[in-house]
Amino acid sequence: MKERTLAILKPDCLEKRVQGKVIQQIIDAGFDIKGMRLLSLSEDSAKKFYEVHKERPFYGELVAYMTSGPVVPLCLEKDNAVADFRKLIGATNPANAEEGTIRKMYADSIERNIVHGSDSAENAKKEIAHFFNDSDLV
Ligand code: ADP
Ligand code: MG
Repeated sequence: MKERTLAILKPDCLEKRVQGKVIQQIIDAGFDIKGMRLLSLSEDSAKKFYEVHKERPFYGELVAYMTSGPVVPLCLEKDNAVADFRKLIGATNPANAEEGTIRKMYADSIERNIVHGSDSAENAKKEIAHFFNDSDLV
């Protein structure tokens, strides 16, 4: 069944100028792009997006990183989109990510890991709504 997930190309992805390659890899893996934006996250918006991590020691650094440059949020659709996208990007820490995954190919560290992917269909709905109105999606 068709499912949606939220991806974000993080600031390091754009700094490295590999956003085109990463988007092509996402398309080649069978995802349809239903929404795409280019924006700079405000501190408030980044804090809200990562609110689940607010007690974690890396929260402050994570917010600083995510506001350090522009990002590209994408609403993606595919059968089994949430799990399949997590598989495509690989483990949070690129050192543990499988060969051929986006994080293995491009990420520098557990923090600067190129791309976000929702971890459940329920969170995907909330995360998509963080960036897109229903009327923005094709
Ligand atoms: P994922 O993005 O794989 O779902 P998490 O939800 O656990 O990973 O963490 C959210 C983001 O916080 C990660 O993608 C990464 O940018 C950052 N992060 C996670 N763990 C750490 C850590 N131990 N140190 C620094 N940053 C981290
Ligand atoms: Mg997560």
